[in-house]
Amino acid sequence: MNTSLPELILKHGREDSVIRRHPWIFSGAIHRVEGTLAAGDTVRVRDAQGRPLGLAAWSPASQIRARMWTFDVDAVIDDDFFRRRIVVAAALRATLFDETETNAYRLLASEADLLPGVIVDRYADVIVCQFLSAGAERWRETILQALHERFPSSIFYERSDGEAREKEGLPVRVGVIGDQEPDFPCTVRENRLLFAVDPETGHKTGFYLDQRENRALLGRSVRDAEVLNCFSYTGGFAVHALAGGAAHVTDVDVSAEALRLARRNIELNALDHARYTQQAADVFHYLRRCRDEGKQFDAIVLDPPKFAASKSQVDKAARGYKDINLLAMKLLRPGGLLFTFSCSGHMPLPLFQKIVADAALDARRDARVLHVMTQAGDHPIALPIPESWYLKGLVCRVE
Ligand code: SAH
Repeated sequence: MNTSLPELILKHGREDSVIRRHPWIFSGAIHRVEGTLAAGDTVRVRDAQGRPLGLAAWSPASQIRARMWTFDVDAVIDDDFFRRRIVVAAALRATLFDETETNAYRLLASEADLLPGVIVDRYADVIVCQFLSAGAERWRETILQALHERFPSSIFYERSDGEAREKEGLPVRVGVIGDQEPDFPCTVRENRLLFAVDPETGHKTGFYLDQRENRALLGRSVRDAEVLNCFSYTGGFAVHALAGGAAHVTDVDVSAEALRLARRNIELNALDHARYTQQAADVFHYLRRCRDEGKQFDAIVLDPPKFAASKSQVDKAARGYKDINLLAMKLLRPGGLLFTFSCSGHMPLPLFQKIVADAALDARRDARVLHVMTQAGDHPIALPIPESWYLKGLVCRVE
């Protein structure tokens, strides 16, 4: 054991979550720190009795004051440590994907790959990286080097922006890494379909990779159906539905930029424009307009942004989910399918089920769940971290 490391001693009784392998140490759980610590430094974590619990990265600006790199008390945090983590993460993805079908996936999923603050997505020949914590920032060069060795011909792009980085007191860093200029949007393959992804201007790193399997399920479920795809972003669900033989798909999103790429995705897959419509609109308003005009659909997708960013927002979020689910149920023809999602880590599945059940009651429709959905396997759920099971979805048949 390296004894020269600074030490973080937890308050009495605050070691439980670390023992249960939750990697976050909040400021309120810390009794004291011994030694000098700069942002991103490695610190040995001990309980109040002095028993070692593992090694963490120090985040002085954040309420999450330290994030565990490892629970192995004998581990050493060095270049090799990160290399090994990346090898393990890449090996998992190699078992998940056949490159001829899908060449876009999350390669490193932060805590779920035991690398808190590190998100890396692969979009064919482009690797997009986010370093979202002080610890991740400290080891940025090491991680980039290891990724570069693994994907030597890839272009690297950084999207270290967003709220998480702000909370860590880290400046935004966005742009190309290295001297190879990317040609954005890049084209990726998902379930044998093509998508234009723009890591420069897109949401997150450019694409919602976590919905891959749920899009495929929609594609298999909507032959000859009239589909309404709410919160469409760049049309991931729409392309799968049309490729699966849907009679018509309408994408609804507030973002004109997202809809522009959605149109491009229809073209990339040589799908029939006559079977495709877009609406740049607020979904809450659009669903009401459809109701007032007596419109009906055979399948509706509701994939809203995160309504609950924290526990305190769950009640308000519940009202938002209830509202859109109630409206959508009213718009479905008998026997229609509702693909409804919540991507809020703070919204547990039983609560989401209750909200959808209440929506069905209020809409006076019988609804049964045919499938329960979650995030794709390249966004693994870390069992000790309940919030890492963030994506929940229900496919309901509504009579
Ligand atoms: N289903 C998409 C991902 C949805 S992300 C996919 O498969 O890729 C959420 C989307 O909702 C974003 O594109 C955002 O622009 C849009 N959005 C957020 N609030 C909205 C609102 N009130 N009305 C319409 N779109 C909204």
